[in-house]
Amino acid sequence: MDEQLLLEEENVIVDNVADQLITIAERLARMEVTIESIQQEIHQLEGQLKRKLEAKGKMLAKKRKLYCAICKLSGHETTKCRKGSAAQKIQWAMEQKCCLNCNMQHPGACNKPPACIKCQGMHLTAFHLQ
Ligand SMILES: [Zn+2]
Ligand SMILES: [Zn+2]
Ligand SMILES: [Zn+2]
Repeated sequence: MDEQLLLEEENVIVDNVADQLITIAERLARMEVTIESIQQEIHQLEGQLKRKLEAKGKMLAKKRKLYCAICKLSGHETTKCRKGSAAQKIQWAMEQKCCLNCNMQHPGACNKPPACIKCQGMHLTAFHLQ
């Protein structure tokens, strides 16, 4: 009689443990879904951050481009400066090791057509000496 009772009790315990295991397994499954969605979120955020940093980099590059080395002010490019003389601009371009014809840094001769509209020479009109 007592033994029978003990066996039943043990059965109940086994059932309980099995139930708990199932519950844990279910929770684990839910957690895996959550982890996956968190990972996806992180991935998306990383993408957003990357795009924002790229946009910031472009903005900074644009700002840098709009800095005038002659009047030490931002807002216009050195080549577009109204105060600076052509000689000053040429000196600046040579210091920057920029091509006088396209204002870019590149090795060898320029492959762009002559830029000056005043003399059709291989230099920007801004670098044209009177
Ligand atoms: Zn200027
Ligand atoms: Zn060039
Ligand atoms: Zn010229």
